[in-house]
Amino acid sequence: MRSFWGVFVRWMTPDLQDREVDEVSNKIYLINLFGWVGAGITLVLGVNAIFHQNLFLAGCLLLVSFAYLMVYVLLKVFNPENTYVYSASLILSVLCILMVYLVYTGGVANTGPLWIYLLPPVAMFFTGMKRGLVVVGVFTVVVWFMLLYRDGALLKASYPVEFKLRLLYSFLTVAFLSASYEFSRQVALRHFQRLNDQFQRQAQKDFLTDLLNRRGMMEAIEREYHRSRRFDHDMSLVLCDVDYFKRVNDQYGHEAGDYVLKRLASVLLEELRGQDQVSRWGGEEFMILLPETDASNAEYLAERLRLRVQQTIFEYNGQRIPVSISLGVCKADTNESVADVIREADKHLYMAKDSGRNKVVTKRR
Ligand code: GH3
Ligand code: MG
Ligand code: MG
Repeated sequence: MRSFWGVFVRWMTPDLQDREVDEVSNKIYLINLFGWVGAGITLVLGVNAIFHQNLFLAGCLLLVSFAYLMVYVLLKVFNPENTYVYSASLILSVLCILMVYLVYTGGVANTGPLWIYLLPPVAMFFTGMKRGLVVVGVFTVVVWFMLLYRDGALLKASYPVEFKLRLLYSFLTVAFLSASYEFSRQVALRHFQRLNDQFQRQAQKDFLTDLLNRRGMMEAIEREYHRSRRFDHDMSLVLCDVDYFKRVNDQYGHEAGDYVLKRLASVLLEELRGQDQVSRWGGEEFMILLPETDASNAEYLAERLRLRVQQTIFEYNGQRIPVSISLGVCKADTNESVADVIREADKHLYMAKDSGRNKVVTKRR
């Protein structure tokens, strides 16, 4: 049963690959659903009109049913993210024409105008509040004119004056409510998007140093790695670790250790170029991403960082703290994965540690 439902849903819905659920994918699903529901309802009404001998109405409804099926075809054949705007416009245009036609003819037993209330929510949701208001405004003017011009001279059906006025007033009320609802929906959506962006940024930041954290850096490395492969550019990583940092904590206290990490972060930032990125990779380890940089330039930069740290005075509560760093440098090769490059940088960092610390070791081929 479940697999039948799964197959049915797959067949019914456009392929959005792994797109996250968001405003656009929601719209695409709803446009698709509206296309199906619209095609179904107009098909039934069209067949019903055939039984009522109203062949012209039947023809129109069946045509609309076909147009709504096309919405599904459009979404299925082309990339829905690029074509959903056209599908929405198709739905809306056909809906407007059908509504005008139903008001004009009265549909079955003069019940046609009852369907016009569909328009405001559909127009607002599919095209946004501003465009939706324009569509509904133009539609209102057209229908108003048709209903009231010379006491209905433009209409095929005849409606009592009270009905026409109540129809217009209630339509305007629904239009106003739909616009207000869409407006508050947009405000809420923007608010949640802002919150989401803020959380995303916070999730990538290190609390102590305000640098990128490991997660943020991993994303930056992956991005740069793909870019450098695509454009055949160099990219290097430098992994840097504070020497004997445990002693700093033991001798000067944990707060002094925190101060060293913060100060070190700002020293590294000062010394790096605008394009480079530095992150707190773990406790007292910093990962540096150097785009457009080959191994010898990365080594040169790492050496500069090492010297700069050695020359920097770290002073906490009047006490000078000697600080040095060891660095492992690795240029990304095309046949290596991101994990390989990181592993290499780590390996070279530990070679720097083994060879006495306060050193730079670069991967050489
Ligand atoms: P090595 O030269 O081999 O790197 O020696 P090390 O002492 O720096 O390395 P080890 O890994 O033994 O110790 C790292 C220390 O860093 C241990 C841990 O308490 C400290 N540390 C990690 N995160 C923080 C932090 O956020 N604040 C402070 N103050 N200390 C931290
Ligand atoms: Mg260390
Ligand atoms: Mg360490």
